[in-house]
Amino acid sequence: MLCAVVFFAAVAAVAARADTIVLKNGRRIVANNVREEGDKVKYETSAGELSLPKSIVDHIEKGGGVPMGDSPAAGAANLAITPPAMGTISGGTEIESGAVHDGAIDREYIARLEAAAHAGDQRANAAAALAHHAAAQFELSRGDMERALADERTALTFAPEEPTLLMNVAYLHLRRSEYKQSLDYLERARRVAPGNADVAKLAGWAYYGLNKIDQAVAEWKRALALRSDPEVQAALDKAQRDKQEEESYKENESSHFTLRYSGAAEPALARDILHTLEAHFSAIESELNFAPADSIGVVLYTQQAFADITRAPGWVRALNDGRIRVPVQGLSGVTPELSRVLKHELTHSFVGQKTRGHAPTWIQEGLAQWMEGKRSGDNAAVLAQVFQDGHAPSLGQLEGSWMGLQSDAAGYAYAWALANIEYIVQTDGMGDVERILERIGGGSSTEAALREVLHSDYSDLMQSTAEYLRKNYGR
Ligand SMILES: [Zn+2]
Repeated sequence: MLCAVVFFAAVAAVAARADTIVLKNGRRIVANNVREEGDKVKYETSAGELSLPKSIVDHIEKGGGVPMGDSPAAGAANLAITPPAMGTISGGTEIESGAVHDGAIDREYIARLEAAAHAGDQRANAAAALAHHAAAQFELSRGDMERALADERTALTFAPEEPTLLMNVAYLHLRRSEYKQSLDYLERARRVAPGNADVAKLAGWAYYGLNKIDQAVAEWKRALALRSDPEVQAALDKAQRDKQEEESYKENESSHFTLRYSGAAEPALARDILHTLEAHFSAIESELNFAPADSIGVVLYTQQAFADITRAPGWVRALNDGRIRVPVQGLSGVTPELSRVLKHELTHSFVGQKTRGHAPTWIQEGLAQWMEGKRSGDNAAVLAQVFQDGHAPSLGQLEGSWMGLQSDAAGYAYAWALANIEYIVQTDGMGDVERILERIGGGSSTEAALREVLHSDYSDLMQSTAEYLRKNYGR
C-alpha cells in the first residue's frame, strides 16, 4: 500500500525556468525542455516525454514559465506568471544581458548601475531595478530562492511602484510558502495596478495557502472576470469542490490539529484519531528536533469522497497537500494500519514546514516511510540486483512529483526512497537528516545539501545505499 504526498508548496518545486508552448487554439502548455523534432514538438513532464504535432502549435516562448505539476493539487496550485516586461526602459535588453551573461551574474556591472542611480535620475533608477530583476530571474532559474528574493527586493528599492516587481517579490514569497508576506506585496501591487489579473491570481494562491478558501475563491473569480485563464479556472473548480464537501463536515480540535470529518464518521473515531496524531506529533518532534508552528489541518473522508475530491490515482491511500487527507470509511477505531498512515502523513507536514515545501519527493517519502516503521527488508535483494544491472533510477529523477507514475514504477520509487533514508539514518543518525532538511529549507538544492552534510553526491549515495542493502539484508 502506498501513499502520496502532494504539497501545495512543492507545487512549484521545479526550479528550472520552463518554456511555454502556445497552441493555435490559444491553449498554453508550460513545460520543460521543449524542442522541435521533425513534425513534432516534444516536451518533458514528470510522467515522461510527450509530443504534439507541429501543425497545432502556433509558437514556442522560451523561458519564463513555471512548469505545471501533474498532480491534482499541483495542477491546482500552478504558479505560472510571465516575468515582468519592463518595456519603458530604453536599452532594457542590453541591461539584462549586461547583468547576466556567460552563465553568471555580473555584480560589477550591477554596482555601476547602482552608483549611477544613487547619483541621480529616474532612468538610472529604472536601469538598476531591471538589472537586479534580471539577476533575480537568473537565481530563480537555478532554484536559489533566497538570493532571488534578495535581488528582487533590491530591485524594488529602485522602483518601488513597479507592479511587476511587486508581483515578483510576492511570487517568490509564495514559492517559499510565506503567504502573509506575499499578500503584503500583492496589496501594494493592487494599489498601483487595480485591474491586473495576475495580482488577483497570485492573491488567490496566497489565501489558498493560508487555508482561507472563501477569499481564495473570491480572488480567482476576480482574476477570471479580468481575463480568462484555464489555470485559474482549474484552481477555482478544485477550491469549490473542497469547500462544498467540507461545509457539511463537523469540526474538532486538539493542540496541534484541526480535524474535519463528514457526518458519516463517528465522533469517537475522530477523537481517537486526534489522540493518535498528538502522540505521533510528540514522537516526530523529538526525532526531528523541530515542531511545525501552525495548526495542521486534517480531513477524514469516506472512500468515495476521497477519490472525488483528490482525483488521486488508485494507488494513493492518503495524501497531504498542506492538509492531511485520509479515507476512513468503515472504521470505528484507530487500527494499527491507520495509525501508520497518520504518522506517515504527519511526517510530510513536518518535513514540508521544515524545508518550506522544498524537500524532494524521495526525501519526503523515504522519511515518511521510515517514521511509520517501514524498513527495506524483503525489497533489499531486488533493489540491490536492479542497481547492479544498472536499472535503478537516479535520485534526481525521484525529486519531482510521482503522481504520474504507474503503480509498479511508484513501488520502486518508494522502495528506493526508503532505502536511501534508511541508509543515512542507520549509518549517520537522524541528526544528519535534520541537517539536510535544514539546508534545503535555507534554499540549498538537495544534492548540495547532501554534499555538505554527507560529503556524497546523488550517485555516491545510491552506490552506498546499494552496498548497505547487500551487507545488511544479504544472505
Ligand atoms: Zn507519503
